[in-house]
This record gives sequence, C-alpha cells and structure tokens, in this order.
Amino acid sequence: MVQDKNYRRVGEGLSGLPTYTGEIVVRTRGENDVVDITDKVESYVARSGVKNGVAHLYVIGSTAALTTMEYEPGLIEDIRNAMERIAPRNAYYKHHERWGDDNGHSHIRASIIGPSLCIPIREGSLTTGTWQQLILLELDTRARERRILVTVIGD
Ligand code: ZN
Repeated sequence: MVQDKNYRRVGEGLSGLPTYTGEIVVRTRGENDVVDITDKVESYVARSGVKNGVAHLYVIGSTAALTTMEYEPGLIEDIRNAMERIAPRNAYYKHHERWGDDNGHSHIRASIIGPSLCIPIREGSLTTGTWQQLILLELDTRARERRILVTVIGD
C-alpha cells in the first residue's frame, strides 16, 4: 500500500525558489519487498507545477533504501539475490549481540545502497529513463511502515 500525505508549499528555498514538501507512506510486506514509487513522485512533481528543479527523496530509517532500477520481475529477483551475496543473512554480525537483533545484514545492505535520491526535473517531468523506475527496498526482516520524505524545489 502506498499513500501520500501532507504535500504542500512551505515557502522559498535557498535561492528564493518555491519549495514543496510531502511524504509517501508505504506499508511494506516484509523483507526484500521492492516497491515502485515512481507514479507517486511524478504526481508530486505535477502538483507542484515546478518545471525545472529537483525532486529529493529520503527514507527514514537504517534498514530501508532508495534506488532506481528497471522494475521487472527478473531484475527484482536479481537484486534480492545480489543483496544475499553482498551481505548474507546467515553471516555473523556483531549487531546481533548488541541488541539481540536479527537484522545485521539489513543494516549493511541499507548503508551500501543509501537512503536518498535526487532527481532532476526538466520541463515539468522527472528525468528518468523509460526503463528506470524509482524504488523503495525494504531490507528489514519484517513488514514496516516506511516514510519517504519528498522535497521538490524549483520554478
Ligand atoms: Zn538492527
């Protein structure tokens, strides 16, 4: 489930440009959920009326990540498999001793991919390729509610 919340103009950015903020809230289905958020971000850009600027996205939390990819079933499976090779679930993590957690691999995967994206807006559209979608990766070991903060700046 993907919803959006509180999208509004909050004032002028650093150089006097209009700034809009909002949140995309995603209820993930558990570890390795890969969620396409492209349409939601595009609708925020459209509502802002910004023709040239940037859309910045940031997911709160240390066990989720944002990136871009071609959103098709083969690659979705490939990225899950790559995550397992990069930071195997059953490897030893000191994090588990500290908190009694089971998600050391989740943190490592999230740190490597990163929590944010910055996408140029040109002529009112995100400059993504035809086969390039914006995606949220749920890397934690359970379903979570994720908040993606969206900031659109431009004119
Ligand atoms: Zn943890």
